[in-house]
Amino acid sequence: MTRKYNFSAGPAGLPDEVLLQAQEELLDWHGKGLSIMEMSHRSKEFVSVAETAEQDLRDLMGISSDYKVLFLQGGATTQFSMIPMNLLRGKNSADYINTGIWSKKAIKEASRFCDVNVVGSSEENGFTAVPTQDALQLNADAAYLHYTPNETIGGLEFDYVPQSGDVPLVADLSSTILSRPLDVDQFGLIYAGAQKNIGPAGLTVVIVRADLLGNVVAGAPTMFDYKVHADADSMSNTPPTFGWYLAGLVFKWLKDQGGVKAMAEINQRKADKLYSAIDTSDFYANPMAVANRSWMNVPFTLADDALDKLFLEQAEEAGLLNLKGHRSVGGMRASIYNAVPEAAVDALIDFMQQFEKQHA
Ligand SMILES: *Cc1c(COP(=O)(O)O)cnc(C)c1O
Repeated sequence: MTRKYNFSAGPAGLPDEVLLQAQEELLDWHGKGLSIMEMSHRSKEFVSVAETAEQDLRDLMGISSDYKVLFLQGGATTQFSMIPMNLLRGKNSADYINTGIWSKKAIKEASRFCDVNVVGSSEENGFTAVPTQDALQLNADAAYLHYTPNETIGGLEFDYVPQSGDVPLVADLSSTILSRPLDVDQFGLIYAGAQKNIGPAGLTVVIVRADLLGNVVAGAPTMFDYKVHADADSMSNTPPTFGWYLAGLVFKWLKDQGGVKAMAEINQRKADKLYSAIDTSDFYANPMAVANRSWMNVPFTLADDALDKLFLEQAEEAGLLNLKGHRSVGGMRASIYNAVPEAAVDALIDFMQQFEKQHA
């Protein structure tokens, strides 16, 4: 068996160590004679798995007791509607920053519930740079300010945390959570679909300041009320137990790697190398403003897009998988999340240089 290098944007690669441990305990979890997948979510075994995962995430991110950590379903996309449903708190508008496809989807969904003010946008520069703090036209009476720290498809990333004063800051951290240290206290709510940097698809992590809970819009379905989930420790109904367990293994793995600070060093090195290989070649290009280049998702184009297909075929033969760019933008995209080792990036750069020699 050979594991190839996987540059998938999501569901993304998981650490080998995590998959091996899951494999080892799949049939018989800790001598209990059954799989973790086959246990009641209310069993003391699963509850301890769940609590340990939450505590490890709290340790990794420095999440204080002012915040609830929820393990939900429905993906980040469901959060696009849960956020306005829960955080409007009687107000009728929310501020959003538009930096690309995921921002736009969040904006579209929020517009069903309130007036959305787009207080900053990358539209003018073709989504190649984020608006500066000074350019944001923030509203003091907004229910919250929503932004997308890393646009997974465009490869555009904020190099600062927007300051929103007393207005709670909400971040879609799906593709960049745990990639580096972050001051959680600056946020009202953070959410992330697990399948990029946390674990398998099917789990969504929400970190929310407890004082913001308890204000869901009238008529909201029970499952859309954060407080219901917070009060039940995310076990109001059957949670995604296997995803929660695997996320817990990833959190342990991250701790073993030295936590998010150590990951940040590796991630920055991986990204720097790859962008530098792109920049020093006339064959590859990435259009993003240098300060806003994503550490996690690196889109690039070939000088001649007629070579795209051949590039992808030969990359696959070389054991480099899932480099095709998102269907909406074309070109290539290398997603280099925490679980993608530096050796994978080195192998990709080698391949790119060889391909260029043959075809430039
Ligand atoms: C992948 C992604 C989403 C969508 O996540 P789902 O879990 O598929 O709903 C939303 N926002 C960002 C930034 C993403 O990367």
